[in-house]
Amino acid sequence: MARVYNFSAGPSTLPVKVLKRAAEELVEYGTAGQSVMEMSHRSAPFEAIIGECESLLRSLMGIPDGYKVLFLQGGASTQFASIPMNLMGENGSADYFVTGEFATRAAKEAAKYGKVNVVASSKDDNFTRIPDVDAVKLDPGASYVHICENNTIYGTRFTKLPNTGNVPLVSDMSSCILSEPVDVSKYGLIYAGAQKNMAPAGLTVVIIKEELLGKALPFTPTMLNYEVQAKNDSMYNTPSTYPIYVCKLVLEWLRDDIGGLKAMSEINKRKAQKLYDYLDESSMFSSPVNKADRSIMNVPFVTGNEDLDKKFVKEADAAGFVNLKGHRSVGGMRASIYNAMPEEGIAALVAFMKDFESKNK
Ligand code: PMP
Repeated sequence: MARVYNFSAGPSTLPVKVLKRAAEELVEYGTAGQSVMEMSHRSAPFEAIIGECESLLRSLMGIPDGYKVLFLQGGASTQFASIPMNLMGENGSADYFVTGEFATRAAKEAAKYGKVNVVASSKDDNFTRIPDVDAVKLDPGASYVHICENNTIYGTRFTKLPNTGNVPLVSDMSSCILSEPVDVSKYGLIYAGAQKNMAPAGLTVVIIKEELLGKALPFTPTMLNYEVQAKNDSMYNTPSTYPIYVCKLVLEWLRDDIGGLKAMSEINKRKAQKLYDYLDESSMFSSPVNKADRSIMNVPFVTGNEDLDKKFVKEADAAGFVNLKGHRSVGGMRASIYNAMPEEGIAALVAFMKDFESKNK
């Protein structure tokens, strides 16, 4: 069977070149005489892999000196707890933008460890928009400000960052990391579950300003303490070795085949535009999201008729366009079009949607 176009929100499609390379090296990696899966994380070849992974990430994202890169586990969801435990300080407080399901979860988890101020929420609009960041009043005394930069379920994204002054900005970039260049120096902490734009599931990347280390609450579990992880180069215990290796291959693909994050963002914008242009002209499908806040990674769309949505998802699946069913809280469909979704995949999907529309008028 041929490969399908996989629009899953995560884990999601990986570049074919990366999969082939991983397959070639699966049984014997280089001259190591063993698979990366079998390798000690303290061995020289694995030390080289994790070191290369970090330096590729640093150069692609332009991560300045003074920031640590951590390769952790537990998914972005574990970070919902790690962040307040490490950054809130005793009796501290933090400002949260509530713009979707994961931002809601992050705020709820943080409230166990300190005071959470929900400074803005788009819940009343079913999270179809991002609040105007300039109209939001932030607390200058907060330990940090948390945003979910791209909302995977609702298909919205921040196109402008809140001005947090001296308060560190913490961003969940799970579903947008590496999709376009970002100015890392504007953030105190960036985190991402890797299973969308970076690697298979099992790896969580944290990029943290060094000056934020060393402030963990006393009860912080050792494994969740950023300072411990930083001091041990993410090897306090066994890291997720194979996803780190695949992450390295993905970063090499981004550098060598795509040409870096600026080139990647141009491709991503073209892909998203092609889909949104069709959604805007179609008389069957439409986007429920406020135009100015549309994500370039996750594109929800609806017909307004549940039976027709179901028929579409079923027929699309049979035609090789898989995982298009929308999240239960939005309904309809969602196409997640991360970095590794090729432009041909979008062109083929739009052609399929046009055909479906003409046959189901
Ligand atoms: N944040 C965002 C934006 C996500 O999309 C997800 C997962 N889809 C999470 C957090 C939770 O990530 P994980 O499954 O890695 O815990």
